[in-house]
Amino acid sequence: MRIFSPPFILCSLLCLSIFSCKKSSTLPPKATGTGANSSNIEALNNIDKQVISPYKNWAFGEKAYLHTKNILDFGVRPIESQGHKKTQAYITSQLVKFGWKVSRQSFKTMTPYGERSFVNLIARRADTTEAPNIILAAHYDSKLLDDFLAADDAASCVGAIIEIAEHLPTHEKTIAQQMELVFFDGEEALSPNIEYMKDGLYGSIYYSQYLRNDIADTRKTYPHKPKFGILLDMIGHNNLSINIPSDTPYSLLKSYYSVVEKHKLQERFTVANGSILDDHYPMNVIAELPTIDIIGNFSAKSWWHTTNDNLDNISKNSLNVSIQVALEIIKDQIAKASK
Ligand SMILES: [Zn+2]
Repeated sequence: MRIFSPPFILCSLLCLSIFSCKKSSTLPPKATGTGANSSNIEALNNIDKQVISPYKNWAFGEKAYLHTKNILDFGVRPIESQGHKKTQAYITSQLVKFGWKVSRQSFKTMTPYGERSFVNLIARRADTTEAPNIILAAHYDSKLLDDFLAADDAASCVGAIIEIAEHLPTHEKTIAQQMELVFFDGEEALSPNIEYMKDGLYGSIYYSQYLRNDIADTRKTYPHKPKFGILLDMIGHNNLSINIPSDTPYSLLKSYYSVVEKHKLQERFTVANGSILDDHYPMNVIAELPTIDIIGNFSAKSWWHTTNDNLDNISKNSLNVSIQVALEIIKDQIAKASK
C-alpha cells in the first residue's frame, strides 16, 4: 500500500498531511484498577501483556503467529514464485481442515512488465449456502525485493485470518456462516509504488469488479451485496501502532472508535490524517462495499519494505489484540444491522 499521491484529487490534501502525523512509539497507559473480570484491557507497559478480557477464554495470537512462521518458512512469495504457490497451498489446506470451501479466482492482467497471472483465494463455510454478508481479507503476496519475507506485510494477517477461520465456526457459528474470507494476490506493485489502476492492488481490483458485475448480472455467486468488509494489513508488529485511513466509511469508523474506547486502546489504535491506497480502496469505490482497513502505521516505520520485516517483528499479543478488535468491530456491525 502507499499513501495517496497528489494526482488523486480525492485525497491529495489529506495525504500530504499524513507524513506529518508520524506517531512516536508510545507505551499503553499504566493499569488503573482493571480487575480479572473487567472489560478493560489489562494495561501494562508491554503490549505482550495486553489481553482484552472478554476473550480471555480464547487467547488469540498463538496460532496466528505459528501460521505466520509457517508461511515465512516458504521463503519470499512474490507473484508466480515457488513461495507464492506454497503459500496458496498452505492457506487452502488449513482452511479446508477447518471446514471451509476454498475457490481459486484466477486471472491474468497487464502490468508495467507485461501480462502476469494472479490467484485470489476465496473461502466460505462448506456447510452453508448462505450468501456472504461480511468480507474479511488480507493480501498474501510479498513485494519483489531481495530476501523480503514481509512478515507483517502481510503474512501475519493471513495467519490471523486462518486463526479466525478455526475459531469462528465453533464459537460464533452464525458469524462464520455469513463470512467470506478473501486472500488477495498482487497487492504489491511490481514497480516501487502502487499506482491505482496501473500497478498493484491487482487482486482486490479484480475481486471488486467481479463482485460488482456479479451483483448487477445476478450471476448468483453473490445474490446480494455483502454488508461490509474488513481488511487486515500489518496488524502483528511487536510495537503495535494501528492507524486506519481517515476516509474509513462512517459506520465502520464508529464501530472502530467504540471498540477502541471500550478497551482503552487509543494509544495503539488511531486514525490517520489522510487516505491510504490499499486493497480496501477498490472494495469501497468499485464494489461500493463499505470496508475498513485495519492497518499498521507503515509510513512511520523503518522496517516497512525492508528485510527487517521478519519474524522478529511479530508479536503473538499484538496479533491477539488486533484479532479481537477486528472481531468486535464485526459483532458491532452485525448488532447495528439487526436493529
Ligand atoms: Zn507492502
